[in-house]
Amino acid sequence: MKWMFRCPTCGAEYDIVPGRYLCDRCAATQQPERPLEGILECVWEGDPSYKGRGTPAPLPVERRYFPPLPETAPSLWRPTRLGERLGLRNLFVQYDGGNPSGSFKDRASALVAAFATREKIGEIVLASTGNAASSMACMGAAAGLKVTVFVPSSAPAAKRVQILQYGARLESVDGTYDVAYERSLAWCRDPSRSASVVCRNTGYNPLTIEGKKTVAFDVIDGLEASHSGPVSGSRIHVFVPTGDGAVIAGAYKGFEDLVRLGRLDRVPTLWACQAEGSSAIFRALRDGAFGDPVPSSTIADSIAVDVPRAGAVALRKLIRHGGKAATVSDAEILEAQTTASSYAGIFVEPSSCVAFACLVARSGDLPKDAIPVVLATGSGLKDIASAARAVGLELQE
Ligand SMILES: *Cc1c(COP(=O)(O)O)cnc(C)c1O
Repeated sequence: MKWMFRCPTCGAEYDIVPGRYLCDRCAATQQPERPLEGILECVWEGDPSYKGRGTPAPLPVERRYFPPLPETAPSLWRPTRLGERLGLRNLFVQYDGGNPSGSFKDRASALVAAFATREKIGEIVLASTGNAASSMACMGAAAGLKVTVFVPSSAPAAKRVQILQYGARLESVDGTYDVAYERSLAWCRDPSRSASVVCRNTGYNPLTIEGKKTVAFDVIDGLEASHSGPVSGSRIHVFVPTGDGAVIAGAYKGFEDLVRLGRLDRVPTLWACQAEGSSAIFRALRDGAFGDPVPSSTIADSIAVDVPRAGAVALRKLIRHGGKAATVSDAEILEAQTTASSYAGIFVEPSSCVAFACLVARSGDLPKDAIPVVLATGSGLKDIASAARAVGLELQE
């Protein structure tokens, strides 16, 4: 089996080697303040020797290079009380709050750590709203890699504490995630370091989307186990909290792989779930293209972005597979948080609640036999301040 990077826009192929992130030709067409151009995709040829349900997804880095830490816990289940409350008998939740650092990002960080280990590169650098940074710091600690992160100083305290606990270097950025992203890229591209670091920035490094695809394998494994056999992709509706668009692009990649591997008849319907105050991908799907950035403002900090870095990839896949998009207000997000906590025992951070809230708002649009799956991407303990507000609790400093 052979792996390579391929540009989905022009078809150019590249080896998977350190320092290769974007397609040279397509990256040169980059416009200011628009999603990244030239994002590469991991592709494989030959026999993936994939053994079916319950076996790991084929990935471009061999298992033996992965950090000695499982990146996920078994995590698809049926929250029956919440399903009854919402009138959705077939509701499933894919819970990633139990991953080592408490978020979905561990899927991508484990693969990037494995790549750095295989290539004998000792340092990983990235920008993050907080979860990708705490996740990379966690996997880096397990793997013995140095991790440097650029994070807005406004990131929730729990995420900053995690970063320092795991022993990473925290560069606090006085500005938004978009500012942190530019600073980290400049840092990685500095000729004095570009050969000795792996840049894990979302979208930019193709391995982040590839790592995130494993969620599709977990969802299909879990659904098949609970239905005692194959489930048609035409019934499955996956609600994905979306900011930069890398999680939804990764989920799509996984479902595409599963179709190619003969595990699934068709790619399910994916919903890009966004906050009203950070809805670039929703607007692009509605309008057919990305417009000028709108400054983001939402309680859902993990998905607050002005320019979605993997937006072009996400939009292309949404259009190709007939995906949908929805938005919800901060009030709906906080209401969904207490509903999920109190009816299902699923306490997730505001960004993850965007997926629950979009499902609540749009459940009337689902066919009767639909199987809705909500991606619950991050633990509620990661942002206590917002959660406290939702339950009317005053926190002491
Ligand atoms: C990163 C993240 C998302 C969304 O990911 P994007 O790739 O930015 O769309 C959703 N939920 C949580 C908890 C996250 O950390």
